[in-house]
Amino acid sequence: MNPILSLRDVRRTYGEPPVAACAGVSLEIERGELVAVVGPSGSGKSTLAALLARFRDADSGSISIGGVDVREIDESVLRATVGTVLQDLQLLGISVADNIRLGRPQTPMERVVEAARAAAIHDEIMALPRGYDSVIGQDARLSGGQAQRVCIARSILADAPILILDEATSATDPESETRIQEALDRLATGRSVVVIAHRLHTIAGADQIVVLDRGRVVERGTHAELMAADGLYRSLWDSANASSEETREGAEAR
Ligand code: ADP
Repeated sequence: MNPILSLRDVRRTYGEPPVAACAGVSLEIERGELVAVVGPSGSGKSTLAALLARFRDADSGSISIGGVDVREIDESVLRATVGTVLQDLQLLGISVADNIRLGRPQTPMERVVEAARAAAIHDEIMALPRGYDSVIGQDARLSGGQAQRVCIARSILADAPILILDEATSATDPESETRIQEALDRLATGRSVVVIAHRLHTIAGADQIVVLDRGRVVERGTHAELMAADGLYRSLWDSANASSEETREGAEAR
């Protein structure tokens, strides 16, 4: 099978003295596959997401989609092919409806509502002073979790076959987190997805987990394979579980 997305020895360096945020990453993503990228803070996950979405260019190596180098793909075609839900959410100071149908002003209202329902944000939009006509920053003040679901609704409507998701690190309340996860699961269905995961428990079911450390791929496999390998993934998982247990115990003690 031909991979839909392929990275060959991708490198990207920042600053002086140079720090290699991406130090030769090679990856192949098959059509319909969900690939999770994990690693300690500073290991290059967000840099990889930015390179995949072509917000930044690699210093060397290549990224190709369906066998075509991304540098040869027209910007508008690339934007229609690779959707993103990244950490720095891009909501504009226009109505909620126009934020969801961004770049597609002709989209009928039913489709906007359908996408908002799928992204589990419709009821909260309806509760705003002017519903879908409320303007971001004026009468629509959204929490981080709500803003994220508006961005997910936009991606559902945009319907790009490849998606790059950079999960937010910011803590949201557990109820919002569950709804975000539901919305992301719906968005991911039937697409090829790369998830930049800052929390491990959400990606245990991924088809392929790629573990980065200092800009390099140090392990790859399924959750079960990586747990058995007893390497970096296992230690990240064990320390994440230990800290959530501490939080739970702390909450119970209070
Ligand atoms: P992660 O998402 O895994 O935390 P990043 O991709 O954000 O990792 O960062 C990888 C490395 O690259 C870090 O050492 C970080 O300090 C550096 N880095 C990332 N972005 C920039 C930038 N715009 N300018 C300078 N250094 C950067």
